Amino acid sequence: MTFIEELVALLGPERVRHHPLDLIVFSKDAGVTSGKVIAAVLPEHTQEVAAIVRIARRHDTPIVPRGAGTGLAGGAVPVEPGLIVVLTRLNEIHEVDEVGRTAWVGPGVINLDLSRSLEPVGLHFAPDPSSQQACTIGGNVATNAGGPHCLADGTTIAHVLAAELVTADGSVVVVGSEAPDLPGLDLRAVVVGSEGTLGIITKVLVRLTENAPDVATLLIGFPTIEAAAGTVSGIIASGLIPAALEIMDQPMVVAVENFVHAGYPTDAGAVLLAEVTGTREGVKSGVAVISAIASRNDATEVRVATDSAERAILWKGRKSAFGAVAQAAPDYYLHDTVVPRTALVEVLRKIYEIGDRYDLHMLNVFHAGDGNLHPLVAFDARKPGMLERVQAAATEMVEVSIEAGGSLSGEHGIGLEKRHLMHLVFSDVDLDAQARVREAFDDAGMMNPSKILPEGSRCFDASGVRL
Ligand SMILES: Cc1cc2nc3c(=O)[nH]c(=O)nc-3n(C[C@H](O)[C@H](O)[C@H](O)COP(=O)(O)OP(=O)(O)OC[C@H]3O[C@@H](n4cnc5c(N)ncnc54)[C@H](O)[C@@H]3O)c2cc1C
Repeated sequence: MTFIEELVALLGPERVRHHPLDLIVFSKDAGVTSGKVIAAVLPEHTQEVAAIVRIARRHDTPIVPRGAGTGLAGGAVPVEPGLIVVLTRLNEIHEVDEVGRTAWVGPGVINLDLSRSLEPVGLHFAPDPSSQQACTIGGNVATNAGGPHCLADGTTIAHVLAAELVTADGSVVVVGSEAPDLPGLDLRAVVVGSEGTLGIITKVLVRLTENAPDVATLLIGFPTIEAAAGTVSGIIASGLIPAALEIMDQPMVVAVENFVHAGYPTDAGAVLLAEVTGTREGVKSGVAVISAIASRNDATEVRVATDSAERAILWKGRKSAFGAVAQAAPDYYLHDTVVPRTALVEVLRKIYEIGDRYDLHMLNVFHAGDGNLHPLVAFDARKPGMLERVQAAATEMVEVSIEAGGSLSGEHGIGLEKRHLMHLVFSDVDLDAQARVREAFDDAGMMNPSKILPEGSRCFDASGVRL
C-alpha cells in the first residue's frame, strides 16, 4: 500500500486530507513562511496518533504536529515535504479536579474554551495568549505560550504538571506527574516549549487557577512611550505585581480604536493597560498605587473600568491589536523579543531607529511588565524585496535586544523563523547538547525536523570529538 492508502485504511478518507487546496491550507501557520505538505491527517485519540507515527516512520516521512496553526514562528510549517498531524479533534476535557485544581485535557481544546467551561466552578487556565479564541492547549504547551496575564501568573510552563506524548517510534509516554516533586529528570520542562520536535502531545495535565474575587482594569494615556515605560518600571519597583501591564504606542492605539471603538485616547503618545486582581481592599490599594505612579510620569488620563462590560471592551482592544493592523496593509510581521524591563526604553528607541532606517510602517504593542517586545511591521509582501527588508530589520531588532541582555523570543518560539539566530545566544557546545536531547527522544529525526536548532548543531561525537 502507498503511504496515503495506509493512512486512509487507518482513518478513512474524510480524515486524510490531500486535495491541492488542503495542501495549501496546511502549508502555513500565521507567520510569513510556507512549506510542502504531503497530506494532513485528523486523528481523534492517542492510539490513532501512535499508529500514524508508525506508518510515517515506515515510509520515512517527517511529521509536523499542528494545533490551530496560529503560531507566528513557522513551527507548524513543514520544511521537508511532510505529514501534518492536526490535533484539533483531540479536544476533550477528560477530567477536572476542582479540589486539587487540575484538569486532564486533550491538546486540541481551545484555550478560551477551557477557561469558559470552568467559569461555573470559579477556576480558569491562566496563560491567555492574545490568540486564545483560536489557539489550542497543545500549541500553548509546545510553544510555552505567554499572554497579558502571565506577568503575575507565569507562562505556560508554570501551569503544566504532566503531558502524554507519542514519540517517534510510536511509544506513548507520560512526562511529569500528578504527584508533587517527582524524582528524576524533569522531562516535563524539556517537553514544554519543544515545538513538536520531541513528539506529539496527546493529553495535558494543567494546573487551574482560582478566579480572583475582585479585579480592576485601568486605561492610562501618556504623552510619550517613555513615560508609559517609566510607569511600568515604577510600578514593579514599588513591589506591586499587577496581573497585567500592556503598552501600545500611538500608531497601534489609533489602529485599535478604529477597529473596536473602545474609547482609547488616539491623541495619546502611548497607552498603558493595567489590571490588578485580588481582594477588594488589595485591588483598591493597587489602583491607588498605579494611579499615583502614572501621575508622576505625566499621565494625561487615568480611566478605571466601571464594570465587566467596560473591562471586556478595553481588553478586546488589546487582544484585537494584530487583527486591527489589517486596515493598514495586507501582511504583517510580528517580532517577538524579550529584554530586561530596565532596558525597555533604550531598546525601543533603537527599534524605532531600525524601523525608520528600513522605512517600515511599524506599530508597537507589548507585554511591558515582562519586557516582552512585539514590534509589528505592516507591509505588502507583493512588493518586490519588501519581505527581505522586513526580515533584515527583524534580525537587527533581535540583535539589539540580545545586546541589551535579552533573548531571541519572549513567547512565540524559535520554529523556522529564528533558528539561524540561535548562535547569538548559544555556543556550539550548548547547541550540540540540545541536539543530543532531541536524538534521545527521536532517533529517526522525523519529528518536526529543521526547527529550533540550526543545521549542523550536532557537532560532537559520543566521545566529545568534533564531527
Ligand atoms: C493574533 C495572534 C496573537 C497571538 N498572541 C500570542 C500571545 O499573546 N502569546 C503567545 O505566546 N503567542 C501568541 N500568538 C502565537 C500563537 O497563538 C501561540 O504560539 C499558540 O500557542 C500556538 O497555538 P496553536 O494551537 O495555534 O499551535 P500551532 O501554531 O498549530 O503550532 C505551534 C507549534 O506547536 C507545535 N504543536 C502544536 N500542537 C502540538 C501538539 N499537540 N504536540 C506537539 N507539538 C504541537 C507545532 O508543531 C508548532 O511547532 C499569537 C498569534 C496570533 C495570530
